[in-house]
Amino acid sequence: MPADESVQRMEFMLTLRQRGISDKAVLRAMDEVPREHFVEARFADNAYIDQAMPIACGQTISQPYLVAYMTEQLAVRANHRVLEVGTGSGYQAAVLSRLAREVVTMERYRTLANAARTRLKTLGYANVEVLLGDGLGGEPLRAPFDRIIVTAAAETIPPALTAQLAEGGIMVLPLGPHGGAQELLKLTRTGQGLTRESLIPVRFVPLLPGQAREL
Ligand code: SAH
Repeated sequence: MPADESVQRMEFMLTLRQRGISDKAVLRAMDEVPREHFVEARFADNAYIDQAMPIACGQTISQPYLVAYMTEQLAVRANHRVLEVGTGSGYQAAVLSRLAREVVTMERYRTLANAARTRLKTLGYANVEVLLGDGLGGEPLRAPFDRIIVTAAAETIPPALTAQLAEGGIMVLPLGPHGGAQELLKLTRTGQGLTRESLIPVRFVPLLPGQAREL
């Protein structure tokens, strides 16, 4: 790794800590996953700057701080099976794969799903499975999931996803209007139903129904 890249990566880790990420396993996972392989080649030099970046199909790879924050809020353990809705680049899935037993991630764009699948395989993240399809329905055949993370903003909480959350399970999702004020929510399934906690204001691309049509 060139000297300036290792400086950038040190600053990257420092920024995450300064912004309040303290879970050691999450920090280790963020340190391990090479973000430069998940951004477009023209942005590779800036892969360790704490910002979202455009990827194919008009989508974005999330800001690293948010990836770390959502991962920390999920409290993933080594025996967990995790569902991610919104594969995008596959970066969030790669981070989760360092913490969980298994990650199932769903993407509605074939181009993105195929690119992420190839990338994750090449990088050796063998416990991630990328599925092409509408994540609003989750993946009933693999349910229940210990943890569910949604990385696109829904206007209402998708009932199929809460139905696939295991007892004691946690789901983190952005909720709010497209392009408007959204908040990150944490839902926990208890014996009495779902508890709901508001986390921080966020801005995500929209969660859209159906598999995407591509030209
Ligand atoms: N987690 C990604 C960020 C993805 S941006 C990363 O780490 O790079 C959100 C993604 O959600 C986009 O790729 C978008 O196509 C996808 N998406 C939106 N609605 C969806 C749906 N209903 N099912 C599956 N994927 C969806």
